[in-house]
Amino acid sequence: DPACVEPLPVLGRDVTVPLVTGGEVTYAALDYAASAPALQRVWDDVAAYAPYYGSVHRGAGYLSQLSTDLFEQSRVTVAEFLDCRPSDQVIFTRSTTDSLNLLAAVIPADCQVFVFETEHHASLLPWTNAQVTYLNAPRTPDEAVATLERALADRDPYGPALVCVTGASNVTGELWPVKELAAAAHAHGARIVLDAAQLAPHHPVSVQDLDVDWVAFSGHKLYAPFGSGVLAGRADWLQEADPYLAGGGASRKVTRRVSGEDAGGVDVEWHTTAARHEAGSPNVIGVYSIASACKALNEAGFENLVAREQHLIAKVREGLAEVPAVRVLSLFGDDAPRVGVISFVVDGWNSSHFAAALSAEYGIGVRDGLFCAHPLVRTLLGSEPQAQGECGAPEAAPGERSLNAIRVSFGAGTPDEHVERFVRAVK
Ligand code: PMP
Repeated sequence: DPACVEPLPVLGRDVTVPLVTGGEVTYAALDYAASAPALQRVWDDVAAYAPYYGSVHRGAGYLSQLSTDLFEQSRVTVAEFLDCRPSDQVIFTRSTTDSLNLLAAVIPADCQVFVFETEHHASLLPWTNAQVTYLNAPRTPDEAVATLERALADRDPYGPALVCVTGASNVTGELWPVKELAAAAHAHGARIVLDAAQLAPHHPVSVQDLDVDWVAFSGHKLYAPFGSGVLAGRADWLQEADPYLAGGGASRKVTRRVSGEDAGGVDVEWHTTAARHEAGSPNVIGVYSIASACKALNEAGFENLVAREQHLIAKVREGLAEVPAVRVLSLFGDDAPRVGVISFVVDGWNSSHFAAALSAEYGIGVRDGLFCAHPLVRTLLGSEPQAQGECGAPEAAPGERSLNAIRVSFGAGTPDEHVERFVRAVK
């Protein structure tokens, strides 16, 4: 019985917030898709390590050696968590956005990029140096594969190409057919990067089984604190390109030119390991906490986490289905496999007001807006482009169709009471 699998202890589970109606209530964090609360276990690991904190790769002292060891062991833990190939490199970044921008900076100059319009902006926008083909929103997973195959069949088969795809949508929570898309990409000589920002916290990710070339994710969505992320995968493009960040740590040898035409300049030999793209003193706490979260999730067992999450998804979807004014947003339909991310609109309600009311009257934290996936949300809402701020949306005039949506999202730390309160509040 998945209900019997206990939620994992997370920070903030006892935090109370005031209600406009008077009194206070424990905060129901139902915005995991934006940032998940840190696991208590991660916090404890970080607290135990904190007194031993030292510079990484930059000190001869005992604590520097210890920190360097923990940093490098974290790389191994992440490689295991993602089931990487032995030759893959794990690069620590600031976030998924940073990871995908790093990859965009190292792709070959003549690379063609293929990306569905439904992607999060972090996957949609970094390819400014490439020739990008934007693929229309598919309405089934099979259509996604067929759309990609058609687009790839038309390309120059001898040039480099990259497909960028999400594993789980940050709007609908729907799983994308990553393995099939990877097979299609490879059949046409293209490579593929998986945006696992929303997938990795909810599902095991195997680079080898999915056969993706790279994977990116963020610590703060994987129950670790903010500030660290991962790009893992094939070394060749990464090591053939200039460093994403130039500086100390990325360079193996720097010498002043003493003769020749450009005497006085500087010659640099860059590292050919992950260090090439990790210039500057690294975020050792962030990296250590990602590794701690990977271990904690593996120990909890993804089969347990998935079973419990599916039980919560069923509760929310069944509850929302009982409210005729609610329309749940979906690309692939009701039966599509999904993670605990659900977006919806409510007839007669402005989504921002609705989300504000959930917070003020029930102590529930959700998100409203276009979720940094403007083209997708507009497709799902059937609305026209509007001028608006990044990730935000304008207010609908009274009686108008909502121009933005409400998103509820949850995961390993969510107790039943939070989703029950949410359903009650919506009703
Ligand atoms: N991709 C997806 C699918 C996401 O949901 C997000 C975060 N909302 C990102 C990328 C970007 O992650 P970050 O903000 O941590 O860079």
